[in-house]
Amino acid sequence: MKPGELIGCHDCGCLYQWQPLAVRERARCTRCRLELYRWHASGPTAQTDAMVALTLAAVLVFILAQAFPIVNLRLAGMTSGVTLLQAIGVLWGEGMGVIATMVLLCAVVFPGIELSALLYVAIGLRHRRRVPGFNLVLRTVQGARHWAMTEVLMIGILITVIKMTSLARVEPHPGLFAFAFLTILCAIVMRYEPRALWALADRQVPQPDDVRRHQAAARHDHHDHHDHHHGQPAELVACDTCGLVNRLDDDAPASGAHTNAHCCRCGAALHRRIPNSIAWTWAMLAAATLLYIPANILPVMYTESVGGTEGDTIMSGVLLFWNTGSPGLAIIIFIASVVVPVSKLVALAWLNGSAQLRSRAAPLARTRTYRVVEFIGRWSMLDIFVVTLTVALVRFDLLAVITAGPGAIAFGCVVILTMVASAQFDPRLIWDPIDSHGEHRHV
Ligand SMILES: [Zn+2]
Ligand SMILES: [Zn+2]
Repeated sequence: MKPGELIGCHDCGCLYQWQPLAVRERARCTRCRLELYRWHASGPTAQTDAMVALTLAAVLVFILAQAFPIVNLRLAGMTSGVTLLQAIGVLWGEGMGVIATMVLLCAVVFPGIELSALLYVAIGLRHRRRVPGFNLVLRTVQGARHWAMTEVLMIGILITVIKMTSLARVEPHPGLFAFAFLTILCAIVMRYEPRALWALADRQVPQPDDVRRHQAAARHDHHDHHDHHHGQPAELVACDTCGLVNRLDDDAPASGAHTNAHCCRCGAALHRRIPNSIAWTWAMLAAATLLYIPANILPVMYTESVGGTEGDTIMSGVLLFWNTGSPGLAIIIFIASVVVPVSKLVALAWLNGSAQLRSRAAPLARTRTYRVVEFIGRWSMLDIFVVTLTVALVRFDLLAVITAGPGAIAFGCVVILTMVASAQFDPRLIWDPIDSHGEHRHV
């Protein structure tokens, strides 16, 4: 980015001029307090060097984590051990294709895509190049990151291991340590945000002339807006993906969410707001609420042993942990499977309803609620990961076999639907009624 270039706040839609920061400074939105960008201790070259090293390490550890078994169970002379992919295969073989696909995507495919795409971009930036497909690849990183759940999987693995110690002898295998290391590396690699990388690429590899002219024009229009100059200034729209502010051409539709235009920097479709945000969020919320009922009534797991077959719902699983001396695990599963999904449904209904009614109350509190919902949503997948690993590990014929139940499918769908609902909700809608009453702050 260059001084004076315009960016939009993702959470409230305010426009800002990019300015260089002093040491350790962070630029925050004055209205919703979102961090817009931050000062970097190292220059672009050192940043890209570190990025290549860290993402390469993460890709290698990712491959090791997938290749090795996670744990081995020993029970009465029988052993069972699985890699993550084998565990997914077991679930698939039992006719639980929906859950197997969810776990495959969230624990293998999306983390793999995110890390390898980031490495590809980093290698190019290190050589001061925009690799072929740069914008598409970086947009893919942004999308895949939302659904990559390595840290949730790690906690799921730990819970499964602790749970298994009461049943059989547990022997840790290399996969377990690889996943622990991968979780740490992913947390570090998360700092490389696509928005910051587009800005970094602007400094490392200047854009072609026509793009720069377009950006300069947007800057000029913004000043026009300020000084209330004569004439109709072109409309400015911030890109949802990279944050850059674009100038709309005169032939764009005058109102509505769609603009038919694409961002001049990252190529993403430009929207004034997420199209049909409120209707889609309601639809997803309604579907999730309906499915939450079977998710709680139907068993998520069946345990077959000498004594017969027993079904466990989410709540009876929590109570089992509580009564067998693992209150810590009971609380974690209860929070992830009950507290998080229910509060997500309630919070999103409140956010969407108040946005639809154009409420002007407590916009900052509502924006913060939205951020919490976005942050905690993924943790509901915890129980799905625990079910997957338990089902794959506990296969001791005649003694004990655990299989997944239909409740797990319903619950998995609730998690996905609530995540889609919060992604469909446009947080800028919270601030729109305030804008129209003339409280818009200029920068
Ligand atoms: Zn803001
Ligand atoms: Zn963009």
